[in-house]
Amino acid sequence: MKKILSIIIMSLILLFTGCIGLKVEQSNNIERNLIISVFDVGQGDAILIQTPNNKNILIDAGPNSARDSLIGKLNRNRVKDIEVLISTHPHEDHIGNMDDIIKNYNIKDIYMPKVTTNTKTFIYMMEEIKKKNIKIKTAKAGIKFNVDGLDFEFLAPNENFYEELNNYSVVVRVKYGEKAFLFMGDAEKLSEGEILKRGYDVKADVIKLGHHGSSSSSSTQFVKKVNPKYAVISVGKDNSYGHPHRETISLLNKLGIKYYRTDVVGDVVFESDGHSFWIKK
Ligand SMILES: [Zn+2]
Repeated sequence: MKKILSIIIMSLILLFTGCIGLKVEQSNNIERNLIISVFDVGQGDAILIQTPNNKNILIDAGPNSARDSLIGKLNRNRVKDIEVLISTHPHEDHIGNMDDIIKNYNIKDIYMPKVTTNTKTFIYMMEEIKKKNIKIKTAKAGIKFNVDGLDFEFLAPNENFYEELNNYSVVVRVKYGEKAFLFMGDAEKLSEGEILKRGYDVKADVIKLGHHGSSSSSSTQFVKKVNPKYAVISVGKDNSYGHPHRETISLLNKLGIKYYRTDVVGDVVFESDGHSFWIKK
């Protein structure tokens, strides 16, 4: 009787450990989905794109005031290396933590528009790039690259000189399977017009609206052409610019586009398997 009992127990143990083994094997084979996090960094932008094989692309690095919070968010998302770092344009609310990011992470490629400023933030950023001996790639419309099955295309800047620094913003369209995401930086209506004139495909399921929902961005014509299901506004609570502007919100309402504000809901996280996408948070 004892023998039979021990045989039964042994086979149960074998069955159980066998099941665990199978489970581990299965989970190793499962690819993750694409994850896009529009971080709440107060008044500014920082967007993390994580590919199915865990490669990281970071668009902007938030304002300096969000330093600890941004580093915390990157740590929680297990970011160690950054495949592509995109600095949309050299305003402090977008490059405030670039120096720390460049210093603390392994970075393969850095894209930025061909424009300089004489602010301390910009100088610190350039110093770190120099220290690490990274060659800057100039961002301009028409540049395409692929990271891990994700197609990236820059739709702006289209010209070499602008009066307004915002219009140097790198506009990035990311396509994964049947889904597309559009990140506008602080590009204004002038740049949107150029993008449409050049005939770029702007259609996207999600748009990160230009310039924190300012009325200087998001023309009716442009937003209609993008025809997104969702819009995200990366904006700080009680900011002194009055962002997002009333005109932008009423346009979204008029067109029936659902929107999320980082000052209201915090980080906005999308997940996609290439066929569909959903909001994780
Ligand atoms: Zn900005």
